[in-house]
Amino acid sequence: MTVTINDFDVKEKMQWCPGCGNFGIITALKGALADLKKEPSEVVIVSGIGCSGKSSHYIKTYGFESLHGRTLPVASAIKLANTKLTVIAESGDGDGYGIGIQHFIHVMRRNYDITYLVHNNEIYGLTTGQASPTSLLGMKTKTTPWGVIEIPFNPILTAINGGATYIARGFAGEPAHLKELIKGALSHKGFSLVDIFQPCVTFNKLNTYEWFRERVYKLEDVGHDPTDKKSALEKAEEDSKTDYKKCPIGLFYREEKPTYEDMLPQIKDKPLVDHDLKIDLSKAYEEFM
Ligand code: SF4
Repeated sequence: MTVTINDFDVKEKMQWCPGCGNFGIITALKGALADLKKEPSEVVIVSGIGCSGKSSHYIKTYGFESLHGRTLPVASAIKLANTKLTVIAESGDGDGYGIGIQHFIHVMRRNYDITYLVHNNEIYGLTTGQASPTSLLGMKTKTTPWGVIEIPFNPILTAINGGATYIARGFAGEPAHLKELIKGALSHKGFSLVDIFQPCVTFNKLNTYEWFRERVYKLEDVGHDPTDKKSALEKAEEDSKTDYKKCPIGLFYREEKPTYEDMLPQIKDKPLVDHDLKIDLSKAYEEFM
């Protein structure tokens, strides 16, 4: 059967603000799934809380809208239960890099074979405009009326140092380029992060489409080698070191390492869902009754 981008459409009307960067992300994701000929029934999308949380509703795959910051533990549990599924987690910068940051660290070092898409709009959009972990220094928001005084969280640098094995950044204003990065992430075996510059047109009046267009450039256009970790680390800091005059997008780093699932003998040869569930618990009952 031929899979097309329309196979991932849902009837539900998307409620994001007109012009929101989330539209570019969902278009890129659907295109990536269609290009890779994934059947909707082979894919699970786990989302969290925030405007990005709606992603699991707006695409026809299996979906799970989880708790705030908890996309990654749910996604990893699904992957462990059924390794045949393509598992995608979607968070925002507040959801994933704020309340969910501890899961990000541990999932990376375990290298589960899941793809993590982070809608990074550098603000809390759903709650109408508070500073997030990636808001830039000096940015005025409802919670920082005199400007942000904290150093912004750098997800690319953290992912390279934390053990993720495919680390990329895209821009929602370039959905064709983003689609290729997501295809690379879905095809990679191991934990893949695609951090995505996603303009929040309603509450972030600093990081607009125009702001990003003046600053982003593609790593592949300057001959960056994604297997060179030293170069990847340098590129990961280029935005902050140039005072955000240059913001690279593309594939920063990639390496091959065994996944967590590969190292679990119980599911190495057969997914958990295919195991015989007839377990004799009588001895346990005898012992504890
Ligand atoms: Fe998009 Fe911002 Fe509107 Fe949320 S509030 S839907 S992130 S534009």
